Amino acid sequence: MSNNILQLPLRQFKGVGPKVFSKLESMGLETVEDLLFHFPLRYQDKTRLSCIGELKEGMDAVVRGTIRASGIARGRRPTLIVKVDDGTGLITLRFFHFRRAQAQQLRIGDTITLFGQPRMVGGNTEFAHPEYMVGDREPQLEEALTPVYPVTEGMGQSTMRNLTQQALTYLTQNPPEDLLTGLPGDSPSITDSIKLLHRPSPDANTAAIVAGEHPAQLRLALEELVAHQLSLLSRRARTHEKTAAPVNSQGKLADAITSQLPFTLTGAQQRVCEEIVADLRKSTPMLRLLQGDVGSGKTLVAALTAAHMVESKHQVALMAPTELLSEQHFAGFQKWFEPLGINVLWLTGQIKGKARKAALERIEAGEVDIIVGTHALFQDAVAFKSLGLVLVDEQHRFGVNQRLSLTQRGLNEITPHQLTMTATPIPRTLSMVAYADLDCSTIDELPPGRKPITTALIDNDRRQSVIERVGNACQQGRQAYWVCALIEESEALDATAAEVTAEQLEAALPGLRIGLLHGRISSQEKGDIMAAFANHELDILVATTVIEVGVDVPNASLMIIENAERFGLAQLHQLRGRVGRGAVESHCILMYQSPLSQTARDRLTVMRESQDGFVLAEKDLEIRGPGEVLGTRQTGVSSFRVARLPEHNELLEKAQDIASNMVSTDAQRAEKIEQRWTRTLEAFAHV
Ligand code: ADP
Ligand code: MG
Repeated sequence: MSNNILQLPLRQFKGVGPKVFSKLESMGLETVEDLLFHFPLRYQDKTRLSCIGELKEGMDAVVRGTIRASGIARGRRPTLIVKVDDGTGLITLRFFHFRRAQAQQLRIGDTITLFGQPRMVGGNTEFAHPEYMVGDREPQLEEALTPVYPVTEGMGQSTMRNLTQQALTYLTQNPPEDLLTGLPGDSPSITDSIKLLHRPSPDANTAAIVAGEHPAQLRLALEELVAHQLSLLSRRARTHEKTAAPVNSQGKLADAITSQLPFTLTGAQQRVCEEIVADLRKSTPMLRLLQGDVGSGKTLVAALTAAHMVESKHQVALMAPTELLSEQHFAGFQKWFEPLGINVLWLTGQIKGKARKAALERIEAGEVDIIVGTHALFQDAVAFKSLGLVLVDEQHRFGVNQRLSLTQRGLNEITPHQLTMTATPIPRTLSMVAYADLDCSTIDELPPGRKPITTALIDNDRRQSVIERVGNACQQGRQAYWVCALIEESEALDATAAEVTAEQLEAALPGLRIGLLHGRISSQEKGDIMAAFANHELDILVATTVIEVGVDVPNASLMIIENAERFGLAQLHQLRGRVGRGAVESHCILMYQSPLSQTARDRLTVMRESQDGFVLAEKDLEIRGPGEVLGTRQTGVSSFRVARLPEHNELLEKAQDIASNMVSTDAQRAEKIEQRWTRTLEAFAHV
């Protein structure tokens, strides 16, 4: 059987010793087939020489010219700067790491051949750390595109090329089955498609391949998307085989809560509540995503949903991504529920020892109806008497794995209903991929009376005037958030930056009360600081992105974000959403460090011009790609092998049709496709 050869273990390949083998294993590559379906991440185009004058941001470019200047700039860290001219333009090379010999080797007047991706910085073209070759020798251009494979650390590209080359010889002898039917007649076969992706031929349409638009790529992308849809369908089917606790409430509790409110529900809140409750009345578990822009009032919808479940005598768990937010939810739920005789418990990491044991016992005995906590709540062995509903706030901040572990919890064969909330609007196409196994409700209306937030972009140079402006506003009773620059993925460094800023503001604005909040502050203290800010005992809250989600202090009307160019759009939108919640007009100041790259400038301009989360999300997807937009690298979307979003959006709907059709007409074929791509999809098993 041809399939058996494709299942051949890679152990037998030339050049696969124990070290390479273990690397392959860690990449999930065990058989010839795995390797064949492990496609290049991208291609390097070293097939032609470009003129400096025609370079575009981010493209692959080989250029050749004469060195006109070369020297070391002594700034905070020495940088080797070289200028190269080819008669059509001038390009600047920057080396932040270099050896002395290297600096001496790059001499004025020499010919140099370069390969890199240009960046446009303030009207200049730059290469950072390009590959280069000095000398008059004719540059060796490649005949075809060079594949660049996704690899783990310690695995070289040349090893990958060597191994895929061997795998391709098996492919020719044992062509895999063409499982997708109904493709246009001129679609390439799966065998040809696989070959082309691994080894683009010299005469293939280079531009199309680089753009991901070659028919071979489209064919494989479609199959991959079909496989993904199939896996979502199977999962959905498995969910529907489970049993949930149906609610039989009359809505008395929910009505009691709404009648205490100082406002009425928006039409959208009412509608989504109805959609959700209709699901809860079923005996199969609900799996629903509640989308709604920042400040649209999702918490209240969650509370009303919880009320129905509690009225039906089952427990509800509410989980938030941070302790800070879980505490805020606890306070809110307490305020709404306790006057009605419903017990709410906050299960935090701080409850330890005896107190924790007592809390767990109360949960197990059913003495508490609503349990609020962070996801740690679910990692511990918490036994519920009867968990009917799980509410997950700000889903995008969780590792996606949690979604699965939650649905598996629940005693006595009862699977809890699940409502997942997110304020990061997900472009429709992307939600078809990431959340296609969920039903979706959308709050598409903000509570009335919200004033638009005015957004301004201000250069860091004018920091002093921003500080004065904030000082004046606070003197008039306003409150402000000051979000500090994200330095890198290090809480310690972020914390230090925030401390420094807080000190500066204190010195510049004596008389104002300034609080400081960052990841290194104990959650007890965080809660206290947040409460002080909420009670207007503080005027300015200097913070890191810990305040990104959920924080709700309606009197705060100023949001200052430092080095805004380092944040993603979704994140900026979330941060900005902390203001504009009260009756006064709100302002958001995005400070940036110039010079801004064109992309960063575009991004910040979009922020200034739009306040619509959906518009921003689409833009974010365009600029940064799906992995970033979903806010987590584990969603699997970024681990598609061939399919790219948004470039392949148009294939999505087709893939959905093919998948749902195949499930009912040819289950065996469906299973084969799913299996073939399984390794890619493993990540999705947890979405
Ligand atoms: P998000 O959807 O971002 O989680 P929240 O649930 O935090 O939004 O709600 C934001 C603010 O709007 C809260 O202060 C909440 O009390 C208030 N709110 C919610 N619903 C309404 C409504 N229908 N009318 C007026 N204010 C509301
Ligand atoms: Mg919220």
